[in-house]
Amino acid sequence: MVDDEIKEYPKFKQSMVKTHTILIPSMLDIHMELMEAVLLQRGYKCEIMRNQGPEVVEEGLKYVHNDTCYPALLVIGQFIDNLNHRDDTHNVVLLITQTGGGCRASNYLHLLRKALVKAGYGYIPVVSLNASNLEKDSGFKPTLTDLLKLVAAITYGDELMYLFNKCRSYEKTKGVATTLKDSWIKKITDQFAEGKGTKLSQVKKNLNDMAKDFDNLDLDLSHKKPKVGIVGEIYIKYASLGNNHLEDFLVSQDAEVMVPGLYGFALYTIWNSIYDREIYGRSLKSAIVAKFLLRFLRRREKAMIESMNNTKFTPMNYFDHTKDLSEGVLHHGTKMGEGWLLTAEMMELIEEGYENIVCAQPFGCLPNHICGKGVMKKIKSIHKDANIVAIDYDPSATKVNQENRIKLMLAIARERIKDEEKAEL
Ligand code: SF4
Repeated sequence: MVDDEIKEYPKFKQSMVKTHTILIPSMLDIHMELMEAVLLQRGYKCEIMRNQGPEVVEEGLKYVHNDTCYPALLVIGQFIDNLNHRDDTHNVVLLITQTGGGCRASNYLHLLRKALVKAGYGYIPVVSLNASNLEKDSGFKPTLTDLLKLVAAITYGDELMYLFNKCRSYEKTKGVATTLKDSWIKKITDQFAEGKGTKLSQVKKNLNDMAKDFDNLDLDLSHKKPKVGIVGEIYIKYASLGNNHLEDFLVSQDAEVMVPGLYGFALYTIWNSIYDREIYGRSLKSAIVAKFLLRFLRRREKAMIESMNNTKFTPMNYFDHTKDLSEGVLHHGTKMGEGWLLTAEMMELIEEGYENIVCAQPFGCLPNHICGKGVMKKIKSIHKDANIVAIDYDPSATKVNQENRIKLMLAIARERIKDEEKAEL
């Protein structure tokens, strides 16, 4: 429908690289900082949008139908709010990522173009970054070196996010984990600038050194804290704009937070191509490429897990183990949005001791209501201690209401810790 209305749209041309600033929606803070560095070093002028506040939602509501998924409304609202506050909107390009699956995320690009026209910014080109060959004529064309750097950025981002979350709630001196995380972001971006940090041997060394540095932080582990995992739709799970700064809120409530990394989603998307071939007879070529990519990423996943050896941190699980955990709860053919991965991540978190879980659900998201809320009863029948709360995120949901529900979940978690301690005594 939208395509019919906008047949012609401005294209991103290579000549714009030097003159235009690429605006990128914010999501995973650590990963995005590393990716921003990769693009800057490549000669692109780019900017991660950090504008937040009620205006973003208001702009989203103005230009996107209120039936649309909440993440789309926020991303588009953030773009338009950012453009409204710029002096020069003729030298910007908007970058949007697309998963390319059957979910509505594949339509965000068209929704954005339609909103831009309505808001009077129809002359601004939109660049699509996707793995599915969508938008062939307006796609961003990364080189092999760019791709290697982007994969390395995701690897380092996942490891840093994991270690940072493991330490930030137990610091003896406030801020040391943040300082260490920032110093590692700088170290990695410097290496990227020198053309280093992407080979497997270099990745392994950096990951080992990161784990050692975080292991040496002076932490107060004398008191048990509620361990809370965050799962949900990818944008709402990771973007502080989408989840009202959920991670910071949980830390402020004296909880330890765990957010499953981006590797899980990447491997899930790739593995699904192989499974599609197996159960639906889909493209053989995609399945072969997927097998190659899977092998490539698994070697880096192994390096991440092995970097935790000889430290106090429990390593994360291999993707294959996580995948198997959802068996018997949700079929692996359920793969719209986060699909079976959402279920598997909940099972994995419980297995790792994070039985308190916030399932972040955006308004308008059918897949997440099925694979999140829809499986909670089954998960609780397997793990009696599972303390899962589904929190809805939509334009009318109030932060107070969301936080009160999370506080209730934390109260249950604290009661359980007290009971455990009494039993130990
Ligand atoms: S996962 Fe849910 S919120 Fe995200 S695009 Fe799909 S339907 Fe929308």
